[in-house]
Amino acid sequence: MLIVQKYGGSSVATPERVRQVAARVVATKRQGHRVVVVVSAMGDTTDHLIELAHRVSPNPPDREMDMIMATGEQVSIALLAMAIRDLGEEAVSLTGGQVGILTDEVHTKARIQKVDTARLRAELAAGRIPVVAGFQGVTGDNEITTLGRGGSDTTAVALAAALRADLCEIYTDVDGVYTADPRLVPTARKLPVISHDEMLELACLGAVVLHPRAVELAKLYRIPLHVRCSFNENTGTMLKEETALEKSLVVTGVAHDLNVAKIGIFDVPDRPGMARHIFKALGDENINVDMIIQSSTRSGVADISFTVGRTDLARALAVVERVVAEIGARGYTHDDEVAKVSIVGAGMISKPGVAALMFEALAEEGVNIEMISTSEIKVSCVVRASEAERAVRALHRKFGLDRA
Ligand code: ADP
Ligand code: ASP
Ligand code: MG
Repeated sequence: MLIVQKYGGSSVATPERVRQVAARVVATKRQGHRVVVVVSAMGDTTDHLIELAHRVSPNPPDREMDMIMATGEQVSIALLAMAIRDLGEEAVSLTGGQVGILTDEVHTKARIQKVDTARLRAELAAGRIPVVAGFQGVTGDNEITTLGRGGSDTTAVALAAALRADLCEIYTDVDGVYTADPRLVPTARKLPVISHDEMLELACLGAVVLHPRAVELAKLYRIPLHVRCSFNENTGTMLKEETALEKSLVVTGVAHDLNVAKIGIFDVPDRPGMARHIFKALGDENINVDMIIQSSTRSGVADISFTVGRTDLARALAVVERVVAEIGARGYTHDDEVAKVSIVGAGMISKPGVAALMFEALAEEGVNIEMISTSEIKVSCVVRASEAERAVRALHRKFGLDRA
C-alpha cells in the first residue's frame, strides 16, 4: 500500500518523540508499504513564532508571518529525516515548495491549487521516505504561504489525493475523534466512524482534531482517512460516507470555538445593497464572516450583527469603521468575549425539536444565548466565552453522549 502518515505537533514535541515517530514510520515501511510522511512543527512552536513576531511588530504583514511560521515545520522535517536514517532507512526532508505544493496568494490562509508529484514519485521510486513539511506551500511566484492553523492535516490529505494513496493516517495526541473535546469533557467517547459531513461541521465549528479543508479533500477524492494516536496502537476513527449507524444518533458530537468575535452595526439604512456593501468590503479583505443577524426594521433603519474569527477582529474593525461612514450607519460595537457552542448530527434532519432541546440544556445551565444559527445537521449558539465549557458539558449530557 501507499500510505501518507501525518504527525502533529505533540507527536514530535521532543527529540525522544521524534525518534518514536521515526520508529513507527520505519516499521510501516518494513511491513512492505511505501510511506510519505507529513509533519507539523514541534509542540507549540508555531504559537511561539507568532508571539515572537508580535513582540517585534504590532501588526506584521501576512507575507512575513508566513515566512516565520513556515520555519517551524522545517525544523521537524530535518529532525525526523535524521532519525529515520539512524534506524537504517533512507529518508529525505522536503519543504512544501520542494514537493510542488502550489497554493493561491492568500497569505496565512492559502488554499492548495495543485500538487506536482514528480519529486515525491522519484523519491518513492528510489526507495526513500519523503518527509514533507506540513502547513506550507508556495505560490506561482515562489512566495511561501501557509494553509491556516492546523493546516498540516490538509497537506497530508492533499498529498494522499495527488498520489492516489491507499490510506491517509492522521496521528495526534488523542485516540481519534470524540463526541466532544476530551480535554473539556472527560466523559467524551471515541467515535469508531464518523461521516465526512458531520466531521466537516465539527471541524468548522471548532473541533481542531482535523482541519476542515482536509475533511473536504478526503471526501472529494475518496481518501480513506484514519485519525489515531501516535502514542499507542489503538484503532482510531475512520471517516466514512454517511452510514445508517450515524443516522440513528440524533447528535453525534458537540463542538466549541473560542476564536469568535461579534460585531454590531447600528442603524443601517433600510435600502437594497447595504448588506452587500458591508460584506463585500469584508470579503475583499479575506475576512470570513460566520453568523449574520439583521434586526427587523424600525423607522427606516435596522441593526446588523455578525461574527468573525477573533484573530481577524482588528482587521474587520478597520473595514467596519470605513463602511459605517460610507453607508451612513450610526455606529458599531464589538465584543471578543464570546464563544460558539454547537451540536452536530446527521440524524437531526429527520428529528424535530433538536434545537429546542439544545436551548433547554443551555437554559437549565443559566447560559444566555446571544446568537443562533442552524443548518440541516447542526445548531450553533453564541454564548459568553466564560460559560462555554459549562455549556459544552451540559449539551453533551443532554444528548446522551456521556452514556457508553
Ligand atoms: P495535532 O498537533 O496532532 O494536529 P491538534 O491539537 O491540532 O493536534 O488536535 C488534537 C486536539 O484536538 C486534541 O488534543 C483535542 O484536545 C482537540 N479536540 C477538539 N475537539 C475534539 C474532538 N471532538 N475529538 C478529539 N479531539 C478533539
Ligand atoms: N504547525 C501549524 C499550526 O500549529 C500547522 C499544524 O499544526 O497543523 O497550526
Ligand atoms: Mg492539528
